[in-house]
Amino acid sequence: MNYQSTRGKSGESLSAAQIIKQGLALDGGLFIPDEIPTLTQEEIKTLCALSYPERAATILAKYLTDYTYDELLADCRAAYCEESFPGGAAPIVKAKDGIYSLELWHGPTAAFKDMALQIMPRLLSRALTKTGEERTALILVATSGDTGKAALEGYKDTPKIKIMVFYPVDGVSRVQKMQMATQTGDNVNVTAIYGNFDDAQTGVKKIFSDNDAVAYLNDKGYFFSSANSINWGRLAPQIVYYVSAYCDMLNSGEIKMGEKINVCVPTGNFGNIFAAYLAKLMGLPLGKLVCASNQNNILTDFLNTGKYDRNRDFHCTMSPSMDILISSNLERLLALSAGKEATATYMQDLAEKGVYEVSADIKAKIDENFCGYCADENETAAIIKKYFEEYGYLADTHTSVALCAAEKYIAETGDKTPMVVASTASPYKFAADVCASLGLEKPEDDLDALDMLVNATNTEIPYPLRGIAERQVRFNETVKAEDMLAAVKAYID
Ligand SMILES: *Cc1c(COP(=O)(O)O)cnc(C)c1O
Repeated sequence: MNYQSTRGKSGESLSAAQIIKQGLALDGGLFIPDEIPTLTQEEIKTLCALSYPERAATILAKYLTDYTYDELLADCRAAYCEESFPGGAAPIVKAKDGIYSLELWHGPTAAFKDMALQIMPRLLSRALTKTGEERTALILVATSGDTGKAALEGYKDTPKIKIMVFYPVDGVSRVQKMQMATQTGDNVNVTAIYGNFDDAQTGVKKIFSDNDAVAYLNDKGYFFSSANSINWGRLAPQIVYYVSAYCDMLNSGEIKMGEKINVCVPTGNFGNIFAAYLAKLMGLPLGKLVCASNQNNILTDFLNTGKYDRNRDFHCTMSPSMDILISSNLERLLALSAGKEATATYMQDLAEKGVYEVSADIKAKIDENFCGYCADENETAAIIKKYFEEYGYLADTHTSVALCAAEKYIAETGDKTPMVVASTASPYKFAADVCASLGLEKPEDDLDALDMLVNATNTEIPYPLRGIAERQVRFNETVKAEDMLAAVKAYID
């Protein structure tokens, strides 16, 4: 199976290993497979008896056809092992009648990014071998919190790869800062910058496109690579947990073979929900895919009107991983729905005017599978409180946005299909806001919110966050945004 750009202008047709190494297409587009592989009900039945790593290897083998099944199985077993995901990788929990929570945060950083970033470094490592690459990959990441830590945990101590993470010194939570500053591993570096997330992001992009920097690295035996969510190596592993959730619901007797389930996903960059769409296209019996947004509801507006308009205010919310105005992976949905030529035009309009609009035909096509709902800050807090007090289910701020969207969808449509909500972070990762939502007084220090939440809810701190205040800080350097390249050079010298 080969992959092509969503914009169809570069003429590239590359293997999975090649695109995992390369990331973005040369015309600026994202890679999508030539065809969507199928998943039959017979196969789903077989997967029901298998472990998560075996299910993952089976699904990945359909897309990464230049990797052997045995390679993928070894990588999936290592990525989704008991030590990293105690109790299993993606358990499904009944939150209340008709609503199930697919918990994707039982990994090493307590957020769903682990589902992809525990396996992707292994896929990249093999891609370097498969493509005959002799240089070391230097992964640069700009992060507003979750991605940086998950990437560090995924890439630490991977041979032939180094990783460097930049974060805005005042732009991440205390917990997130501690998680990154105490990172272990011999091939990692974490540097704070003065400025906001955009400054970090712009700085990284500038380094990637700086020919002198690229040449400097090449002389030292390195090349730049990225770990962000537009890489197919992050997207493909996300298809697996939707299939796995369906198997688990069959196994527990919640549904019968062939019966549909709906899915509701707290959405930022549209990666997670697009993976659900791929699972549906493959043949998994999914009904509606509900796209949940916070106050930054650009996707809700797009799904309601067909018009994507980024000319609007940006809001900082208590679900920061969904605070986004450019939802990159939406481009993949556009390419599958409207074709590559139209997608190239939309993306040009977006870059030039900050807005594009799909035709009524294309909108109708998208409507068959997707709908969008949003939750404001008060609604998000109210849902956290209601789910805990009435159903005994403790959700984080992102999951709560999705629970709210799911309830709005069900109230509006009367659809009684079982609804699976993707739960993307542990409530402890956003403990201060969860405490405040429950009506507790917000502590001065975020770290104190962890114990406060334990006492108030009688739940447990997930293993990655236990004892975080006592860990040794390894990285405490802060540089100016214009000195990021110097920091990169200092790191590899
Ligand atoms: C990244 C993230 C999201 C958004 O996922 P996308 O794939 O970008 O749509 C939602 N919740 C949490 C906690 C995240 O870290």
